[in-house]
Amino acid sequence: AFVDVTERKRAERALEQSVQALKKVNEELQQFAYAASHDLQEPLRTIASYAQLLARKYKDDHDASEYTGFIVDGVNRMNTLIRDLLTYSRVGASTQLKRRPISLAGVLQWCLLNLERSVHEHKATVTHDELPEVIADEVQMVQLFQNLISNSLKYRSDQPPLIQVVCEENDNEYLISVRDNGVGIEPQYQKQIFGVFKRLHGRDVPGTGIGLAICRKIVESHDGRIWVESDGKNGSSFRFSLPK
Ligand code: ADP
Repeated sequence: AFVDVTERKRAERALEQSVQALKKVNEELQQFAYAASHDLQEPLRTIASYAQLLARKYKDDHDASEYTGFIVDGVNRMNTLIRDLLTYSRVGASTQLKRRPISLAGVLQWCLLNLERSVHEHKATVTHDELPEVIADEVQMVQLFQNLISNSLKYRSDQPPLIQVVCEENDNEYLISVRDNGVGIEPQYQKQIFGVFKRLHGRDVPGTGIGLAICRKIVESHDGRIWVESDGKNGSSFRFSLPK
């Protein structure tokens, strides 16, 4: 039998070309974000130094002191935003991923060591299931767990935080959940919080809104998915999958 495959071959080639073009655009964007945020730091340092000079020169003038105070606050905030943007643009670049077999139990232990003080300060309890070995970038996994657990501490309710790391599995993937008894997230906001600089809280809770965007980038670069489940009252459950 004779089957004409010319059309299919042409479609396959077009698809491959689109994939390559997308990859290139993605890499360019990554480089752009990195360069932009890196170069933004320099002029900011100049603003900060001159604001400090002005503050010193006009320290007896009430208005001038107040205005220079606003400049310094703005500069500090911009600095934090740029630093987080830099972290975001560095994370998850597939060329930088160091994937190897690692123990998620070890990752959690490392992360809890980093958060020890905060866990203690808020009298939080952290429990966990038995955690598997996965093929992943260890530093990024620590960052992922740390962002989620530190959010559970930060967005706590008036009860002492109870954080549970739960692990389920099916044939193809592990499903990890970080559950808390915090303030919860209303369903209509549950998608947007994974976007860059997206926050539901004001300045009263420190943060730039990049933590969950970083989590999403890490999970997706490991071929997984991440989402949150919450009824907006009784805590949240941040869930992500990692392929076996
Ligand atoms: P940040 O904490 O810097 O604001 P994130 O990207 O980590 O940034 O989180 C985005 C927003 O999602 C937060 O501002 C907060 O409103 C909400 N959020 C994140 N984690 C939780 C949580 N465990 N419980 C309730 N709300 C959360």
